[in-house]
Amino acid sequence: MSFLPVISFFALLMVLPTLVSLRRTAAAGMQFFCLGCALSAIAIASMMVADMVSALLPVVLGYAALISAYLFILLGFRGLLALSAPAFLLPALALAAGIVGLVASLNGDGSLGARLLIALGLASALLLVASLAVLDRWPKARRACHMVVVISTTIGSAALVYALSPLHQTPVPSASAAFEFAVAAMQVAFLPLLFVAVILTAQSRIIAGLRTIIARDGLTGVLSRGALIEAGERIFADCLARRRPLAFLLLDLDYFKQINDHYGHACGDIALKHFAETVSAFLDGRGAFGRIGGEEFGLILPDHTEEQATALAEAICRTVRETPVTRVHQRIRLTVSIGIATAAPGDSITEVMIRADLALYDSKADGRDRCTIAKQRQVDASARALAAAAAQLRQSHSPEPEQAAPRQATRRYRS
Ligand code: GH3
Ligand code: MG
Ligand code: MG
Repeated sequence: MSFLPVISFFALLMVLPTLVSLRRTAAAGMQFFCLGCALSAIAIASMMVADMVSALLPVVLGYAALISAYLFILLGFRGLLALSAPAFLLPALALAAGIVGLVASLNGDGSLGARLLIALGLASALLLVASLAVLDRWPKARRACHMVVVISTTIGSAALVYALSPLHQTPVPSASAAFEFAVAAMQVAFLPLLFVAVILTAQSRIIAGLRTIIARDGLTGVLSRGALIEAGERIFADCLARRRPLAFLLLDLDYFKQINDHYGHACGDIALKHFAETVSAFLDGRGAFGRIGGEEFGLILPDHTEEQATALAEAICRTVRETPVTRVHQRIRLTVSIGIATAAPGDSITEVMIRADLALYDSKADGRDRCTIAKQRQVDASARALAAAAAQLRQSHSPEPEQAAPRQATRRYRS
């Protein structure tokens, strides 16, 4: 008898806690993989007992556990890969794999079917791991990978039933060393390899999911501050490399504190969401739009000259003004003030943002609901301090809407 399955048994016991820890995560199907892993360990233990005591009960238990384990593994893949496989197909595949493996083992090691099964099983194990590895990195191959995973699991399962079966005789003298090695590899490696590949796939999906969550602002769904700055740095470097213009727009909702005060904070949240949706719909994929914090948003516009950015900013002001928040009995009018800055040679993204901030302060001071183009000046320490002071002033100095100056054309500074 072979003691090699003991290695597989302990390897399964070692991966089981990791699978259990992934059960409550965003990766679907993990509860089935947990059951599949536990049942696989039980099956291997039963087969080894059957091999030692030559009794029928552990053999039957071992086969039942092994076939159930394959069924749960297939169910796990259905969840993890979001397969639309019909319900009857999975038990049918698990049963077919069990029967093929059993029949091959009854025919003995010398049979051509057994050799073919083991060779296919080993190839399938490698294909299975490779498919899971490329699945998320190669979206175009997703459908093909799904098929490879299901077929490989089934063939590999049949080969494993054969390799672990206590019913097949010890290798006949004619069995080549290569065949014996292949059977041993199947006994030791197939199941632990499969579950390790599942764990790695689930982990990479969880990380991708978390990245998406971090990149989005929880309330409005636009880019988060961090993601906006990251996108800004990337776009900035790209535009500089291509010698293309770039503009940054800083948008701040007007008198937003009063919306909270009059209608409540929950309604303020609805207004923020509405604003983000209105601007996103208007932009229709142009630029990178994100929430910098509170009621302040940023828009990075690659390949936009000052004139183009100004036309866009004016259109945003108009769209926001003309798209009030509608609640059951109320229409809450929103307006936005915008500071516009374009990148000059030698600028950094921070300097462009500071200039946009200073221009935004001027839009507020001029009466709000308008845009202002920033001066093309070098941002030094005093300009940074001025930008910080401007942000503070905006918070403390919010005149009543009635006192605001009448709307006028976009204000332009020229250096
Ligand atoms: P200004 O026209 O000068 O920009 O005036 P403002 O009232 O919009 O500016 P101020 O900075 O005085 O107030 C901003 C308000 O935005 C205060 C804060 O309570 C509110 N705010 C910030 N974040 C949120 C949020 O996530 N939800 C809600 N409902 N309100 C928020
Ligand atoms: Mg504001
Ligand atoms: Mg503000």
